[in-house]
Order: sequence, then structure tokens, then C-alpha cells
Amino acid sequence: MDFNLTSSQQMYVDTVRRFVRYGIIPEVMELEKNHTFPWQIIQKAWNLGILNLSIPESVKGFEVDPVSTALIIKELSYGDTGISTSAMCNDLANIVIAQHGTDEQKTLFLGPFVENPIMASFCLTEPGAGSDNSAMTTYIKKSPDGTYVLNGSKCFITNASYASQFTVFCKVGKPTGNFMACLIVPALPVLPSNSDPHLALGKEITLPTGGKIIIGKPEDKLGQRLSNTAAVTFEDVVINDNQIIGDRRQGFKYVIDVLDYARPMVAAIGVGLARRALDVTLEYTRERKQFGQRICDLPVARETLVQMWKKVELADMALMKAAFKVQEKADDRGMYASLAKNAAAEAALFCANEGLHLHGGYGFMSEYEISKLARDAHIIDIYEGVREVQNMIIGRELI
Ligand SMILES: Cc1cc2nc3c(=O)[nH]c(=O)nc-3n(C[C@H](O)[C@H](O)[C@H](O)COP(=O)(O)OP(=O)(O)OC[C@H]3O[C@@H](n4cnc5c(N)ncnc54)[C@H](O)[C@@H]3O)c2cc1C
Repeated sequence: MDFNLTSSQQMYVDTVRRFVRYGIIPEVMELEKNHTFPWQIIQKAWNLGILNLSIPESVKGFEVDPVSTALIIKELSYGDTGISTSAMCNDLANIVIAQHGTDEQKTLFLGPFVENPIMASFCLTEPGAGSDNSAMTTYIKKSPDGTYVLNGSKCFITNASYASQFTVFCKVGKPTGNFMACLIVPALPVLPSNSDPHLALGKEITLPTGGKIIIGKPEDKLGQRLSNTAAVTFEDVVINDNQIIGDRRQGFKYVIDVLDYARPMVAAIGVGLARRALDVTLEYTRERKQFGQRICDLPVARETLVQMWKKVELADMALMKAAFKVQEKADDRGMYASLAKNAAAEAALFCANEGLHLHGGYGFMSEYEISKLARDAHIIDIYEGVREVQNMIIGRELI
């Protein structure tokens, strides 16, 4: 077993580290305070080739393997997890096309992401169907002319206000149907040059092919304020056969395939945040003196720093194992993806909370980055499946 990175993996790590150090960290606190959608950073990341990591070589000209993807997302998350959530969401939405689309669908629906820095949304969650996504009621129904019509509402959708394309999971035939389909709904392209980064209201998109997409107003969130989240309603949206990915009865299987790929990427987001929390806390406790000593030299405080470091390292190991299992397409990859996600969420929450505590009263001030990290950390334990759902998956595999 070799723990060394390959030269191309090291190149990705060095590139993203430089980008984060000079392009994200100096700006992030101001952008976050103003809830600005980070278009300029997204554009730069796209220019660097670190967006759309799941697009296959046949469309993009080169391919990024899952281990490199995890390394890139982890480094990006060290800068800000709202930004990495927005970036990663393109892959969450697009991997199903790469995995199960035809060559024609790959060109049609993935090609635009190679041409321009555009965003995608992954629409699974509904108000009445969160952890239990089988309870969803959004559905397609066949029309007499052979096309389908899509109706229903999704909530908490990342990138929704700025998305140029929506990947939608829905029931077939009726809201209570037994089968789930996966559809691709392209909308009008939204580019850094033609959209408002401070969008305060929702919007309505009338599709040239028929029907409407109604985007709610951006959610006002506790953390990850640099990612955009909104509700999405599909009203009589006309769907052609070529917008349906794979078999229109296999959506449940495709969701599992997507999440097996994407959960290690959420783990990468958690590990990046946890490491940032550790580093800003180390820096602070090396400077601040109380009782005539640096805080980091006080034995109990040092013990906390050691615990933080251990959580980061263990979560990082779980992440790398899960990414490796995804890369190898191992049968038990889902179980390791869940392990990595839970370990990373635990590390992120622990490091952000204890890091804030070690900053004392200053940690409670919004000008200190640790306070932002403590707000951001909570979502890692929730999106792409809450902790209990990950344990359910592990339990099922184990037994
Ligand atoms: C910022 C943000 C971005 C998001 N982005 C997206 C996106 O892009 N696309 C998308 O489709 N969704 C997205 N989501 C939705 C997210 O995946 C769901 O919020 C999450 O899966 C949990 O669903 P829920 O909120 O309905 O919670 P619920 O399912 O109602 O769960 C609430 C709580 O109940 C408990 N619980 C639930 N199930 C079990 C169980 N089986 N056993 C024991 N306890 C349980 C847990 O404590 C859980 O935290 C996003 C959410 C947020 C907040």
C-alpha cells in the first residue's frame, strides 16, 4: 500500500492550495458577511480546471479520478465550504449523466459545462421527503403526443437561483408511483456576466420547450452563506425522451450510485473545514497568552488541540479509503462512503466547536473566522443524508 500522492495528485493539491491561499482566504469573510454568490471565484476555479470533476474524458478531454477529486474538494473546502458545496453540486447533479447517460446525452447535457462556467442543481429533496426520499411526490405523466409532463416541488436545492440545468428525480405516472425516474431539465444559461450575485427575490423561468420553473427566494442560512439554496417548482414542464437518463424505472438505483460517489466528497468538505478550524486555532493559541503562558502551552488546552488533530487525521484516512473504494468500484463502497461522511462531520463539528472555545470570547465575535466555521460545520452532518441515515446504511451492510 502506498500513501504517497501521484505527481498529478500532488499537482492538483499544490494548485488548489495556492488558489485558496491567494484567491479565497483573503476575501472570504467579507463575501460571507454580505451573502454574495462568489461568481468571480467560481469563474477562476473553472478557468483552473477544478470544477466539473465528474465530466468524462470523452466530453472534457481529460478525466479526474475520484481520489484526486476528493483531494481537490478537501483543499477547496479549507478556503470555504460554501464555495466547495456550490462547486461540488455540479458533480452531484452531473455524475448520473456520466454514469448512466448515452453518448448523445453526455455531449448534450455535459458539453455546456465545458464551454462555460455554469452551475447545475441536484433536485431530490422535497418538503415531505427528506431522509425518506421514496416519499417524494414530484412526478412525470405521459401526454398523448408521447412526451412527458413534469410537476412538483423540491426544497433546499443548492445552486438553484444560478443553475443553468436541473437534474430531477421524480415518480413515474402518478405522485404515489412505485418507480422513480431521473431527468435532465436544461434552463436558460446563467453566467457570471448575466446574473445578480445579490439576488434577493425568486424568479420564474418560462421554458421554450413548454412549462415553467419557479425558483423561490434564496434561503437565509445559519452557515455556508456562499452557497445558494432555494426551493424549485416544476410546473407543466415538457420532457422529451432524450431528457430521461437510463431506464425510467431505475431512479432509486441511480440515486444510490450518485450518493456513493458524492458522500466521500461531502466528507472531503468536512475534513477541509476541520483542518482549517485546527489551523486557525493553533495560530490563535500560539499568540494569545494567559497565566503568563501561551494558551497552547496550558496542558488542558493542549490536550484539546491534540484531540482536534486526531479527529482530523482519522477523518482524512476514512475519506481517502472511501475515495479509493469509489475509484475501485468496490462492492462495499457505500458503507465506506457513509463512514467517511460521519467521521468528517464529527471532526468538523468537534474542531469548530472546540476551536471556538479555545478562542474564548473572541471566538464568539463574527470577525473571527472560527465563528464562521462553527456555523458552517452543522450542515455537513445533515446534507446528503443525516448521521442516522449513514448509520442505517452501515448497519444494513454489516448485518
Ligand atoms: C444547505 C442545504 C443544502 C442542501 N442541498 C440539497 C441539494 O442540493 N439537493 C437536494 O436534493 N437536497 C439538498 N438538501 C437537503 C438535505 O439533503 C436534507 O435536508 C437532508 O437529507 C435531511 O432531510 P430533512 O431536512 O427533511 O430532515 P428529516 O428527514 O426530516 O430528518 C430530521 C431528523 O430526524 C432524524 N431522522 C431522520 N431519519 C431518521 C432515521 N432513519 N433514523 C433515525 N433518525 C432519523 C435525524 O435526527 C434528522 O436530522 C440540502 C439541505 C440544506 C440544509
